[in-house]
Amino acid sequence: MSVMPLTTPAALRQSLFGLRRASLADSLTHRGFPRYRADQIYGWIYQKHHRSAAGMSNLPGTLKQALDESFDLGLPRVVAVHATRDQLTRKFLIELEDGARVECVSMQTERRLTFCLSSQVGCALGCAFCATGLMGLTRNLRAHEIVAQVLLMGDAHHWKDQRFNLVFMGMGEPLANYEPVVEAIRILHDDKGLNLGARRITVSTSGIVPGMRRLAEEGMALGLAMSLHATEDGLRDRLVPLNQRWPLRELLAAAREYGQKSGRRVTLEYTLLAGVNDGPDDALRLAEIARSLPSKINLIPYNPVPGLEWKRPSREAVDAFVQRLYPIAPAVTVRQTLGGEIWAACGQLGGLTPEA
Ligand code: SAH
Ligand code: SF4
Repeated sequence: MSVMPLTTPAALRQSLFGLRRASLADSLTHRGFPRYRADQIYGWIYQKHHRSAAGMSNLPGTLKQALDESFDLGLPRVVAVHATRDQLTRKFLIELEDGARVECVSMQTERRLTFCLSSQVGCALGCAFCATGLMGLTRNLRAHEIVAQVLLMGDAHHWKDQRFNLVFMGMGEPLANYEPVVEAIRILHDDKGLNLGARRITVSTSGIVPGMRRLAEEGMALGLAMSLHATEDGLRDRLVPLNQRWPLRELLAAAREYGQKSGRRVTLEYTLLAGVNDGPDDALRLAEIARSLPSKINLIPYNPVPGLEWKRPSREAVDAFVQRLYPIAPAVTVRQTLGGEIWAACGQLGGLTPEA
C-alpha cells in the first residue's frame, strides 16, 4: 500500500516564478481563492522579496499551505560565485533542477547595476569566437529559470538598487528560445511585481531575423542589440554562421524595421578581432551601415577564450578604430571589459573559472 506524501516533492511542484500574475490568479481561483490574492503574492515575492509562504502575513493559513503544496518558491542552488578583486563584478554559477548549470553576471558601475542573464544552457549557433558556442546546446531555459536569475542576483545585492538594467547577453541565443524569454520579460515587467521598464531590458541576438520581427510586434519597446561583427557577408559567414541563413541585407532590413516600430535605436555590437575586422575599411563600412538605420555602435574589444586563436587588438588599434568612426558614425561606445579576470566578460561564459 502506498502512502500519499504530505507535501508534493519539490520537483513536481510548479515554480511560482514562471507564472504571470493572471495565470497565478487563474490557478488560485481553481483552488477556491479570490484572484486578488495573486496580487498580494506577487507583492511578497517581487517587491518585498520573500522566499517562503510562511512570512506572507496577509494571506490566510489555508492559502499559505496551498502555496507550499503546489508551488515551488525556491531559487536554484548557487554552486559558485566568483567576484573581481574590487567586488564590482560577480559571476554566479547556478545549478538547475536537472543538474544543468548556467552562469549569470552582475556588474556594478558608478552609474548603474546591470544583470547579465543566460537564456539557454550552451548555444547551438557556434559563433567562431565565443566560449558558449564551443559548448553546443544542451537545452533551452524555461521562463522561471530566467526570472530566478534576476531574483537570485537581486537577493545577492540586497535589492539596494531597484533601478537595475537587464541584458540577455549571457549564455545562449535569446531569440532561439523566444517564448520563455518573452514570458520571463512579461513577468519581470509586471507593475505589481518587479515593474522593470522595457527600456531597462536589452535582448542581444546574433541575427535571428524572424525572431527580431516577432519581437518588434510585441510592442514593448525593448532594447535590441544585434551582433554584427562584420560588414561583409564573406567574413560574417565565417564569424557568425547564422549569416549563411540570414545574410546582412535581410538582417539590416529587420533591424531597421525594429528601430522604426519600437522607436528605439538598435545597438550594433561589434567585437573587435585583431587583424580580422579592425581595419580602416571595416570602420568606413561600419559607419555606413550605422547611418543607414536608427542605431548606435557598441565596440567590444575581444575577450580571449582558451583554445581559440583570435586576438584582442591593442589599445592603440582600438583607439584608432574609434577615431575613424567618431566623425562619420551616429554614436559610438566601447564596452568596458568587466569581469575578464574571473572569465565573466562577454563571450567567456562556459564553465571557465579563474583556476581553469
Ligand atoms: N547570443 C547573443 C548574446 C551573446 S553575448 C548574441 O550572440 O548576440 C553578447 C555579445 O558578446 C555578442 O555580441 C557576442 O557576439 C559577443 N561575444 C561573444 N564572444 C565574445 C568574446 N569572446 N569577446 C567579445 N565579445 C564576444
Ligand atoms: Fe551563441 Fe551568441 Fe555565442 Fe554566437 S555569440 S555562439 S549566438 S552565445
